Amino acid sequence: MPKPFYITTPIYYINDVPHIGHAYTSIAVDMIARFHKIAGREVFFLTGTDEHGNKVAEVAAASGMSEIDYCDKIVVSFQNVLKKLDIENDYFIRTTSERHKKAVWKILDAMRLAKTDDGQDVVYSADYEGLYCTGCEKFITEKELVDGLCPDHKVKPEALKEKNYFFRLSAFLPKIKALIESNELLILPEERKREVLGLINQDIPDFSLSRERVKWGVPLSFDKEQVAYVWVDALSNYISAIGYGDDEATFNKWWTDGEVVHLMAKDILKFHTLFWPAMLLAAGVKLPKTMFIHGFFTVDGEKMSKTLGNTIDPNAIVEQFGIDGARYLLLTQFPFGIDGDVQAKRFVTKYNSDLANDLGNLVSRVAKMMIVNFDGKIPKPSSSTKEITEIMERTEPLPNTIYAHIKHFRLSKAIDEAIDLIRFTNKYFNDKAPWKLVKEGKLEEAGGILYACAEVIRIVSIVLFPIMPNKMREIRNVF
Ligand SMILES: [Zn+2]
Repeated sequence: MPKPFYITTPIYYINDVPHIGHAYTSIAVDMIARFHKIAGREVFFLTGTDEHGNKVAEVAAASGMSEIDYCDKIVVSFQNVLKKLDIENDYFIRTTSERHKKAVWKILDAMRLAKTDDGQDVVYSADYEGLYCTGCEKFITEKELVDGLCPDHKVKPEALKEKNYFFRLSAFLPKIKALIESNELLILPEERKREVLGLINQDIPDFSLSRERVKWGVPLSFDKEQVAYVWVDALSNYISAIGYGDDEATFNKWWTDGEVVHLMAKDILKFHTLFWPAMLLAAGVKLPKTMFIHGFFTVDGEKMSKTLGNTIDPNAIVEQFGIDGARYLLLTQFPFGIDGDVQAKRFVTKYNSDLANDLGNLVSRVAKMMIVNFDGKIPKPSSSTKEITEIMERTEPLPNTIYAHIKHFRLSKAIDEAIDLIRFTNKYFNDKAPWKLVKEGKLEEAGGILYACAEVIRIVSIVLFPIMPNKMREIRNVF
């Protein structure tokens, strides 16, 4: 029996309504999760929202609401987008939930008791001094500033000094490096693995586990003046959601005995690949198996940003192309994993060529001929022609080929394989011209060709189900 499969999106920060980036990651994880389910694995798919921090407190204040009222309101728009995109997550974690707080306290306690190999406390308190951008909700370095301003928010950061609890990251880096090099902690794609190893070779300072100035967060159990800082708060969602702190059996099933996969965009690579494993090592919790880091995308060649006004509302794509169309178009814009450009104008041509012309046409022509000439039934396979053998030989290995792509996160490649076969079959249908054979009275031969096409459609309706569940269900109903 393969291990239970536990896959996560990052939790999404709810200082604003969801955008296409959230949709992209969620659809990708949904596709992977559904494929593993079809293949017979036990799957747990987690997503959720990061609801703490100054930015949330500010937006809440600006709208005249308490923090939790604001969170309760905005979280609904995140949950609705998931529903609208037909995302089949098994749980939705909110960092403001009681069970999450308990897990944060538990991991903090475990880390406070931990010692490094040379006997130092893993957690220690010290002054933190730095330049802080409220927009980014983080201290930023001089080096990152552009003309003295935060490059993302175009505002001047404030100089701040406060007491923090720190995590002694340096003590864990050699071990993490070895785990990454040996692929025990698998970082994908390879390019990202190199990037992480490069980071380890630079001096990465210890990081803060708590903040004094942030008020909206999980208060520390051992120091009420401090709240848990974003990394320990947010990253702990991956274990709080499955029972770390309140349900040991479930936690062991998915985390300790399962295969754990985190999927994310590259902006949070460092925190996931270095901070999170270090925290888990300190707390005596097993590490995830795999982290897959996908690229960023630009929209029509420009970095997506609220200020530029080029963010794409996932709801709008669903309105225009339907749920499955939206899912398909987002994941087929560029190869999964690398950076790419999303061009709304390409959506229409891609939709028409792949879904309407290739897939839609094949399905309707084959079904129509069966209705008119075969009494609405799928004709018997004909063993007489080698051309049928040829198409079958191409079709039968497809599920395994595609599952292999999915296991290696080659999502767009998986989709391409299926669409290629559809294209090939359309050509086959045109070349064989079964309608001519019917006119010539060669019904058995025509039936064999239709049978072969139906078999292709059957297989494709399974392998494309994880990306277009509704359309594939419709197609299966037709047949
Ligand atoms: Zn900023």
